[in-house]
Amino acid sequence: MPEGDMVWKTARTLDRALAGHALTRTDFRVPRFATVDLSGEIVTGTTTYGKNLLTHIGDDWTLHTHLKMDGVWRAIPVGQRWPSPAHTVRVVLETAATQALGILLGVVELLPRAQEPSVYRDLGPDLLSPEWTADNEAEAVRRLRLLDDMAIFDALRDQRAVAGLGTIWAAETLYAMGVHPQTTVRAVDERLPRMMQIGRLKLKESIRTRRPPENAVYGRDRRPCHRCGTMVVRISMGEPEGRPRPAYFCPHCQPDPAQR
Ligand SMILES: [Zn+2]
Repeated sequence: MPEGDMVWKTARTLDRALAGHALTRTDFRVPRFATVDLSGEIVTGTTTYGKNLLTHIGDDWTLHTHLKMDGVWRAIPVGQRWPSPAHTVRVVLETAATQALGILLGVVELLPRAQEPSVYRDLGPDLLSPEWTADNEAEAVRRLRLLDDMAIFDALRDQRAVAGLGTIWAAETLYAMGVHPQTTVRAVDERLPRMMQIGRLKLKESIRTRRPPENAVYGRDRRPCHRCGTMVVRISMGEPEGRPRPAYFCPHCQPDPAQR
């Protein structure tokens, strides 16, 4: 699942394609909004909150989309053949020059602008917020502490605590901190503020570079740790979505809390 950094980059793709331009055609290919036509409206820009994309159309509408597992937004010149089968395209936003295609999106929701906060009301602070403050950090830590029995790897990915991290950056953050993914939140209580700072640095580093920096542990199972040479391990963890997620770590640099 794309994480905050990928979602942020997707917003920039949409801005390059659409921001400041009038829509010449719209097609919301989901039953609820199939009859809506926003052609003539100007797209003012796309912002993000965690993994959510918020595209502002005219003065009145926000298009909320979420990539979930397989979703992607593509911008192609008008008239060019779609890169994906038509049935996978959920949204078409077309200007005179460009068509933006929302493909396999997990969420497509057209909201009156005033209802936009409903998208993120229940989520923790957005780690990629440009206005991230000490208060945001304290609030994220407070929300993480509510999950005190949960494994820290699962808690970091729980968007209700802090928005923007997924399996990649949770794993990379824990490696940077030397914390085993199955450690409980309670056991790393004092280190949570630092963890937020590192998570934010990781996401920001990724959005500054065209190509993401090489992962230390994510996707590197059975390859040697850059620090100590021990083979990186992959295990399956489940919360909060209940679906198994791979957790990668170095057993030497991130010792098992049960064996200390
Ligand atoms: Zn190591």
